[in-house]
Amino acid sequence: MNEALRAAACPICGSESVFLFDKGRYKVDRCVNCGLGFIDPVPGAREMEKFYNSGNYYKREDAGYSDYVSLEKGHKRIYAGFIRSAGKSLGFDIRGKSVLDVGCAHGFFLDTAKEMGAEGLWGTDITMESGRLIESKGYRFSCGSFESLDLPEGAFDLVFLGDVFEHLFDPFEATARLSRILRPGGVVILTTVNFASPFVRLAGRKWRLMVPPEHIYYWTAKSLGMLFERHGFKGFCKGYWMYVEKSYLAGRFRVQFGFSPFFFKLYPFSVVPVRSFDTMLCFFRKKD
Ligand SMILES: [Zn+2]
Repeated sequence: MNEALRAAACPICGSESVFLFDKGRYKVDRCVNCGLGFIDPVPGAREMEKFYNSGNYYKREDAGYSDYVSLEKGHKRIYAGFIRSAGKSLGFDIRGKSVLDVGCAHGFFLDTAKEMGAEGLWGTDITMESGRLIESKGYRFSCGSFESLDLPEGAFDLVFLGDVFEHLFDPFEATARLSRILRPGGVVILTTVNFASPFVRLAGRKWRLMVPPEHIYYWTAKSLGMLFERHGFKGFCKGYWMYVEKSYLAGRFRVQFGFSPFFFKLYPFSVVPVRSFDTMLCFFRKKD
């Protein structure tokens, strides 16, 4: 049987898709038009909440969040850059604005937004782990998947989703909801996987972020742009610099290769800039 005929139509643009490979008990398909990658079968809400609450997600090695707290400094620097970038490219001024962080983890984005003048800070996460910490910082917190949460409409000026979009089991409803909860002129900043990256094509099923069912949709600038435009947004995606703690990078290196290279001892700064090569940063602004 022709592999292309086995694959489902693209859920974003309706075009034909091709079967790429099997990963675990999932099939991975890619749209021939917009490049979106998606898995079959698509897991449901209950399956995913069970998955995230089954252990300590943020400390689990295979989920990629080991030693998360040591990343604080690097994360805050990246996030401040994102917010300044939204200012430059979309004319967004964060002072006095309300911010929602979807998948807020330890709340580093909210901390950064607050330091830059935001007022009215709200975080959500699929695990209860981060809830206690977020509330202790004086922010509002809601626990659950973004698709199922009860959030006020027209209430936010900025919504941030850091590495969340690839996890959503219903990104279509999630984007419609983003449009509803934002004020006119409100801004979405998000980071997600870049399935159009040449590196990703080369890595195939061994790509570090090819992890169904944790990651369900594998985005490209084209597929994400089409989805957001449909819901009244305009915007763009690009690469970005990540600033990673040297100690974290050395630790990751040790885990992967069994040693920490001499380079890390010679490098004089505590944070190391790393260019995103398989992820992207996107800005979308809701029309007035
Ligand atoms: Zn498509």
